[in-house]
Amino acid sequence: MRGLPQGSRIYVRGLNWIGDAVLSLGALQGLRAVRPDLEVTVGAPEATADVYRLSSAVDRVVPLFSRNPLFLFSKNVPRERFDLALILPRSFSSALESVRIAPRRVGFGSEGRSPLLTEPLSYSQWKALGLHQSTYHESLVKALAPEASYASPRLDFSPGQLAEAGKRFEKIVPVGGPVLAVNPGAFYGRAKTWPSAHFVRLLSELIGEIPDLTVLLFSGKADRPMARVLEEAIGSPRLVSLAGALSLAESAALLSLCTLLLTNDSGMMHLGGAAGRPGVALFGPTDPSATGPVPGPGGSRFSVLIHKVACSPCFLRECPIDHRCMEGLSPEQVRGEILRLLTESA
Ligand code: SF4
Repeated sequence: MRGLPQGSRIYVRGLNWIGDAVLSLGALQGLRAVRPDLEVTVGAPEATADVYRLSSAVDRVVPLFSRNPLFLFSKNVPRERFDLALILPRSFSSALESVRIAPRRVGFGSEGRSPLLTEPLSYSQWKALGLHQSTYHESLVKALAPEASYASPRLDFSPGQLAEAGKRFEKIVPVGGPVLAVNPGAFYGRAKTWPSAHFVRLLSELIGEIPDLTVLLFSGKADRPMARVLEEAIGSPRLVSLAGALSLAESAALLSLCTLLLTNDSGMMHLGGAAGRPGVALFGPTDPSATGPVPGPGGSRFSVLIHKVACSPCFLRECPIDHRCMEGLSPEQVRGEILRLLTESA
């Protein structure tokens, strides 16, 4: 790999999923730590643009609106030229759209796109190692700066964002006490979600036994119905649903003030970790050794709970059988871990 001259302008093609985007921040932070001279612009779809806007490792974010197959001519791909494009997704289209953006293009060679990259990395070699996804991102930035290493992904909120989150928090939790943030959904599909009946039982018990506990429901708009089911079934003023009500940046800033996060394997899990919160992550059809939570800034960690079944990981969006991986993860087990972490944080 050729070196990068001082002050080079880098275009980073960002990722399309929130969790992946958060994980990629650790690599961009590592790059910034050793090459603060580089000017880093990220092109990202609206769904993840806020993730990159919250990183001080990124100088500028260009939102990409179009998934038009004629993207080469789309006004939504940056018109300007860069010295090098670092292409985080593995798609053919992300490499093709970068051809007219930069003369040097670095990414993993997959989907037959190696000829479009000037410095391709071997995806099959990386995949064969069976490593965590964070190492995928680290390999890419190491191709630019070999001394760069992966850092804990971190969200850098502005003072204004934190002040606004603080006001919102005080309104919701005027009396203090621990606050359990809960993400009952998963954008990827229902197979990743813990059953609503388990959430209802667990949260009802916790609200009953911890007199000053507040539960905040976080989720995207698509999971509003699921949040409504929990609200109606639990029927407590100490459970407040913010499902679909906040932007990604607002959710993340508010999460940073909560005590713990209970979440399915989802983008919210990685967002909460990067906001510095510890928590409990529930895994079923996916593999925590590949995409599980990484340590957050300041060393915060998630406990990963999993009910081992022979068919896991299947990586399906919908379970074709009886959802035993999630049904078998009992509310008692999750309750025990939450109580342990609440005691630790008191
Ligand atoms: S097939 Fe197995 S691992 Fe996949 S969602 Fe169903 S129970 Fe879970």
